[in-house]
Amino acid sequence: MDYLPVFLRLDAQPALIVGGGRVAARKVAWLLRAGARVTVVAPELHAELTACINRTECVYLQRSFEPRQLAGMSLVVAATDDRAVNAAVSDAARKRNIPVNVVDSPDLSTFIFPAIIDRSPILVAVSSAGASPVLARRVREQIEALLPARLGRLARFTGERRRDVQKALGLLARRAFWERIVTGVTATRLLAGDDAGADSAFANELRTSQLTSCATGASGTGEVYLIGAGPGDPDLLTLRALQLLQQADVILYDRLVPEAILERARRDAERIAVGKEVGDHTQQQRIHELLLQFAAAGKRIARLKGGDPFVFGRGGEEIELLATHNIPYIVVPGITAALAAAAAAEIPLTHRRLAHSVTFVTGHAVEDTYLDWRSLAVPRHTVVFYMGLTQLPAIVAKLRAAGARADHPAAIIERAALPGQRVLRADLQHIAAVAAGEQVAAPALLIVGAVAAFAAADSLATLAAPLSPAAANSPPADALA
Ligand code: SAH
Repeated sequence: MDYLPVFLRLDAQPALIVGGGRVAARKVAWLLRAGARVTVVAPELHAELTACINRTECVYLQRSFEPRQLAGMSLVVAATDDRAVNAAVSDAARKRNIPVNVVDSPDLSTFIFPAIIDRSPILVAVSSAGASPVLARRVREQIEALLPARLGRLARFTGERRRDVQKALGLLARRAFWERIVTGVTATRLLAGDDAGADSAFANELRTSQLTSCATGASGTGEVYLIGAGPGDPDLLTLRALQLLQQADVILYDRLVPEAILERARRDAERIAVGKEVGDHTQQQRIHELLLQFAAAGKRIARLKGGDPFVFGRGGEEIELLATHNIPYIVVPGITAALAAAAAAEIPLTHRRLAHSVTFVTGHAVEDTYLDWRSLAVPRHTVVFYMGLTQLPAIVAKLRAAGARADHPAAIIERAALPGQRVLRADLQHIAAVAAGEQVAAPALLIVGAVAAFAAADSLATLAAPLSPAAANSPPADALA
């Protein structure tokens, strides 16, 4: 270990920055955040630093560095682009035993600035000991993605309640209690921005702990995270989905959730596949039983669904069940297949020229007598059919009967955002034959409407045309072929 990571209390401490440029401005900003009393020494100042000095209580000395400016300083940073000046600052500071950092010169520094994540009062510092600042920053980004944005709030929340808990619970019970608070319902609520929910979960937990404080190992309250896993690419998970996946004890996952996403879950979590085959109606019952059983055992359950839980995902039924049984839950939205497919195929679901509305319909709706097929058959309305593959000819027939033209644009997106993704475009008249010919398989979506024929490159050509009159006279591309 080349450096000892420590956190320095700088509140109201005098600190000197030598240099007036951008880099100096950044260091000044950090020192001010830590509450230091900052003095800047530089013959001239960058605009950014001038603004900062005008805004804050920084002292500015408009002159060159002299060792006597170090008197009484707790910390020094040299951020000039003159190596001789930087070396002089380093030298003078070391002689006086004042910690010094020379920007980008570990050899002249007695301390270095780490890459940090600030969720105050939680702080994470990452350093490569000067070997690779870019790598340190990358590591910071990776850790940052795992830390909920409201982590600092959670730390303050628990800090504010420490005394009460100390009075209410014995030493042994306390540790188990806090463990449940920071990993259980209270934390989930608070991190999701539900402060009132967190308060009542906390009070609940405290009451239960007081009642059972002699019986150690009480399981506490279970909870369910109803998570939308998106279309299957792990990079399209939300940060909250990722965070909750990494704390769940049990994962109940659907058939559409691929291994690549399960790999992002906690290693020792129990994984249970609960995918439904077509026509299997007992499976939902089994899912309900598992949810109740694990929640009763105090487990944190990630109920992982493809896309979004509330778009053809039966998420509504599952939260009805949880609410009836008083089991805490949280819903995490996911990128639904329609959005992933639209992005993959570069088909904007709405477009100022082409469509002002969009409808998501399940392919099973061909039997739905309430559905207004006439409104779906309008070209300037986009319709996305989920689970429509086996019903494709029936969907086409319904749309045609409701007034859609034979050349009404359509597209099929197979395995959107997954390996082997395919986009097939055809008009309504031909789309079923194309799908059969290409042996399209599930999961796939059908998009119908003027936007299905959209091609960004074509609009570029039409937009560019008025700018180059010569283009109008040139032969069409096919003629050149
Ligand atoms: N809750 C999910 C939908 C579940 S219904 C969501 O919000 O996306 C299952 C249907 O979704 C499939 O039959 C298919 O039509 C569609 N689907 C799911 N993932 C898909 C993908 N990666 N590519 C194309 N369609 C997909």
